[in-house]
Amino acid sequence: MIRDAGAYRSLSSISHQGKFIEADGRTMLNVSSNDYLGLSGLESLRQEFASVCDPTQALYSASSARLLTGNFPVYGELESLIALRYGREAALLLNSGYHANVGILPAITSPSSLILADKLVHASMIDGIHLSRAKAIRYRHNDYAQLERLLDDNQGRYDSVVLVTESVFSMDGDICDLRKMVELKRRYPNVMLYVDEAHAVGVCGPTGLGQAEAQGVLPDVDLLVETFGKALASVGAFVVTNEDMKQLLINRMRSFIFTTALPPVNVMWSKFVFGKLASFTEERNRLRSLERMLQVAFPDRTVSSHIFPFLVGDSHESVRFSECLKRKGFYALPVRPPTVPEGTSRIRFSLTAQMTEVEIARMIDVIKDISSEFVKENKI
Ligand SMILES: *Cc1c(COP(=O)(O)O)cnc(C)c1O
Repeated sequence: MIRDAGAYRSLSSISHQGKFIEADGRTMLNVSSNDYLGLSGLESLRQEFASVCDPTQALYSASSARLLTGNFPVYGELESLIALRYGREAALLLNSGYHANVGILPAITSPSSLILADKLVHASMIDGIHLSRAKAIRYRHNDYAQLERLLDDNQGRYDSVVLVTESVFSMDGDICDLRKMVELKRRYPNVMLYVDEAHAVGVCGPTGLGQAEAQGVLPDVDLLVETFGKALASVGAFVVTNEDMKQLLINRMRSFIFTTALPPVNVMWSKFVFGKLASFTEERNRLRSLERMLQVAFPDRTVSSHIFPFLVGDSHESVRFSECLKRKGFYALPVRPPTVPEGTSRIRFSLTAQMTEVEIARMIDVIKDISSEFVKENKI
């Protein structure tokens, strides 16, 4: 069944050499990476960390949940630093973006709550919705007019309403108008705004805090979820919020309460990288200039961020497209249902700050060559 639909997934054996991937005897530029700032392969950064990291504190396991004996000082230090930088009351560290998104919605809603979620939010938020006992409605992607109607028609019948969205959408790379979302949530006192910034943190905003910073709405998002696993080259996540909400999450959020805390050494590394976030301006500028190259090269496709979705349509064809790219030296992966809606299989290209103009120019030529072959065969 899964195979017939062209949706079969398997693990590949690959090895990493900085921004390159080696597989099947080929060395390819990794254009499917989430290491947007190019930090994870940066040996100098790891060396600097090793020189400032106190090995007596850098434990490899927390051995317990934070509410039991696993609460190491570095967690609180990082949370204070995050709250300070975001200019908000509180932050809570979580084990991953997945933990954040499956845990927050069930913790903050009840059967008399309504969740209004963008059609394209990440699977982890969908799972959070399923685990909650709230009523949920998905609105069309970035369709603020529909969201407004749903809000006006329904909010009076619920104790609370949560608007759920991503800022830079993971598979389309387009950007949510957070100012509009804030304006909508402000219409009624019982509405909260929840934004997942997994693909924006580090990359967007003058100091890398994400789209909420870029759009000037940092004080207005009730729950801002950011992850460490992508641009920040670490592991874990955090939610930026107010103190009351933080305490509520600590008391109710099952994916926080019932899991061993992250190893202190990882949190020390996260704190080290987060502390430098504002200084990665050159990397952010480089991403913007590579992004502009794609915009110029593909004027009839939308390039709104460092994530470039190249729509192919059919799942089998997207796999074949990806194979052609690999033969030309670009490791770009197909994204298929159920990750994306049926009939919208695509190659998801992502840019990182380690890539050069020459590499991207060559990638553009290769994409154009392959797609003109596919067009000739009537495949796209
Ligand atoms: C990757 C991702 C997550 C999950 O984060 P992890 O830390 O990898 O568990 C959550 N939301 C979005 C939008 C993501 O892209």
